[in-house]
Amino acid sequence: MGSQEVTTASAWQGMNITVAGLGVSGISAARALAGLGASVTVVDGGDSPAHRERAVPLEQQGIPVRLADAETLPEGTDLVVTSPGWKPDSPLFLAAAKAGVDVVGDVEIAWRLRGHDGRKAAPWLAVTGTNGKTTTTRMLASILAAAGLRTAAVGNIGTPIVDVVLGTDEAYADLDVLAVELSSYQLHWAPSLRAHSAAVLNLAPDHLDWHGSMEAYVADKGRVYEGNQVACVYNVADPATEDLVRGADVEEGCRAVGFTLGTPGPSQLGVVDGILVDRAFVEDRHKQAQELAEIADVEPPAPHNIANALAAAALARAFGVPPAAVRDGLRAFRPDAHRIQHVADVDGIAYVDDSKATNTHAAQASLAAYESIVWIAGGLAKGATFDELVATSAKRLRGVVLFGADRALIREALARHAPEVPVVDLDRTDTGAMPAAVQEATRLARAGDTVLMAPACASMDMFANYNQRGDLFAEAVRELGAAGA
Ligand code: ADP
Repeated sequence: MGSQEVTTASAWQGMNITVAGLGVSGISAARALAGLGASVTVVDGGDSPAHRERAVPLEQQGIPVRLADAETLPEGTDLVVTSPGWKPDSPLFLAAAKAGVDVVGDVEIAWRLRGHDGRKAAPWLAVTGTNGKTTTTRMLASILAAAGLRTAAVGNIGTPIVDVVLGTDEAYADLDVLAVELSSYQLHWAPSLRAHSAAVLNLAPDHLDWHGSMEAYVADKGRVYEGNQVACVYNVADPATEDLVRGADVEEGCRAVGFTLGTPGPSQLGVVDGILVDRAFVEDRHKQAQELAEIADVEPPAPHNIANALAAAALARAFGVPPAAVRDGLRAFRPDAHRIQHVADVDGIAYVDDSKATNTHAAQASLAAYESIVWIAGGLAKGATFDELVATSAKRLRGVVLFGADRALIREALARHAPEVPVVDLDRTDTGAMPAAVQEATRLARAGDTVLMAPACASMDMFANYNQRGDLFAEAVRELGAAGA
């Protein structure tokens, strides 16, 4: 037992902490903080049977849970720990501000707990952006692992970050470095986070209802660069990301490193003749370029995904990973399901599931990845407009099949910007519509085309979630194959 444990633990001993939200991260934070000697109360506005069920084990552990009241701040609260879904203007937080009580998120707690109990305080390599976070973070973890480092992809992914940092699970004991995916919500509530290096992949309007404005959303994303030690990685094609680097207060000697799908300049990573090259982490960046991997090593080799690979490579190189590990890590990486997932080829037509394309920015990336597409789209638009997406993709569209609550918005954009493209409006919002969508898309497609389900919309009007939407697409494609065989 080192002296550090005593110091760290005592910081939480007897503190009155209110955890907002009885979700996965809230429960994990509550348990961890109670385990460190804090007096924890969990509050949640809900009071359903599911809420009550989740409250039982906490209460058995001596952690009181207050349901059906998300507004009043428990008497004597010293610190509020929030969950991602809660908006900054939630009454509980306004009450906390009035009482002079800090509000932080689980990422902040995890950051403050690094090195607890004499453990190794693994540095963080952080990834944020509107799209591509999970993919890039997992690619990064794969590269770090290929370099022989003990690491995990955490944050918005997998095991709650507080548990990982505390090493509650054997799998997370003694890590060398963490690949951390951070959402704009998590960054908003993590004021003291200081990553070794960080990347902002891209910036497009999203979650504006939560942040209040695009400016506020961008500012929260930009916090990921604060205090970086080695590299702030930005997207050359998205100048707003570079602006954030310029505005950041970083450690002396920390560098701005760009990634680009074009030929890289000094201090950039980019692509030359199908090769991913590094002109940032080399001895003489004005004269040298280091080969890292080939485009064919990246799965899928779509442009946006090459960009993700370059960002992951930049963070790994900032951490000192050798070039061969970048190649090996990218080769070993397999994308998660429903992210530009090639389902099958039937009669010369490729069927691709990008159900995770739940906004127009994501759909735009996958539409850019194929030459001739029959596009399956529609669902809940969440306030988005489709003109730009349709206008930039029109020349690649062989045809379009629409379903879902807000399909008229896409149909109208198609009429304005791609009037010659045939459109089948299924006029359906039921879960069972997927086989019909796949059949209609097949009818429109020719050999060599790609049938791409990248709906540019959320799924909840027709499906339980994007996973189910993708699974039903794959099932319908398999039936098609079976019928044709
Ligand atoms: P996130 O974790 O940010 O939601 P994912 O890696 O899960 O990102 O990918 C979500 C969707 O965004 C994918 O379906 C893909 O089509 C799209 N996408 C992935 N990377 C990018 C990128 N760099 N630019 C634009 N869209 C992307």
